[in-house]
Amino acid sequence: MPQLGFGVWQVPDAEAQQVVGAALEAGYRSIDTASVYGNEAGTGRAVAASGLPREELFVTTKLWNGPAETWKRDSVLRAFDESLAKLALDHVDLYLIHWPRPMRDDYLAIWQTFEEIAESGRAKAVGVSNFRPEDLRRLREVSPLVPAVNQVELHPLFPQEELRAVHTELGIATEAWSPLGQGKELLALPEVAAVARKHGRTAAQVVLRWHVQHGVIAIPKSVTPSRIQENLDVFGFELDAEDLAALDALGASAAGRRIGPDPAVFDV
Ligand code: NAD
Repeated sequence: MPQLGFGVWQVPDAEAQQVVGAALEAGYRSIDTASVYGNEAGTGRAVAASGLPREELFVTTKLWNGPAETWKRDSVLRAFDESLAKLALDHVDLYLIHWPRPMRDDYLAIWQTFEEIAESGRAKAVGVSNFRPEDLRRLREVSPLVPAVNQVELHPLFPQEELRAVHTELGIATEAWSPLGQGKELLALPEVAAVARKHGRTAAQVVLRWHVQHGVIAIPKSVTPSRIQENLDVFGFELDAEDLAALDALGASAAGRRIGPDPAVFDV
């Protein structure tokens, strides 16, 4: 899986072909979509139009948290079929459970169906998203299949150090959603600007480089062609220990907090 991918949350389906097309043109080879984003069809059109060999691409999609019955085996298999049909692909590279919804206590059952999907080869790998340490440990107790990835909110203002340590212990790759902190407060912080100035790079590049050097997979989103390119251009410089320490310290600063929903209570 490429360490830097392209996220398409909030890209309308009608624009997805053009936006994902621009990302593939810029050199991204990993695309992160989800059934709930409503843009699997546009993403699939971009993949088809790119003419790139399928084996060069890494496509991720996710099972949405619907009402209770959507977590039953038949519904999960149907949802997966629908995602593949919209993407116009015969397999995805990664299929994720979008949210754990611990209050419903049904992700263990879903994971059994994900085992089947993995065995079928129609998802080359399966994983989870927004799972907490206790959710990952429960999965491990019941299933020999370790999630390949846990995709979670992660950026310098919410670095998830404890969760990253659990991933290392269990052999799960860490993938960061909202790696740029959604382009809000994080990119305007003076600490980030100072590191950016030192390297002659942008704030976004410095933050993405922080992910790369922490071994985290990042999937920044942009619909602006120049930013799409800028966000991929993070392999030609290196942060030193002082830069990393300055960025690492942001998590414990007054601004440090999550932006998105808390998985412990998030439900639909
Ligand atoms: P992000 O951190 O990638 O920020 C994107 C925003 O930052 C853009 O809309 C733009 O406003 C700004 N931006 C992008 N590039 C910039 C640049 N170079 N300079 C200045 N500003 C820039 O946030 P995101 O879209 O929330 O997260 C990325 C992806 O993660 C999503 O598209 C989606 O694929 C995934 N995601 C997954 C979940 C989940 O529950 N699994 C939740 C949220 C997002």
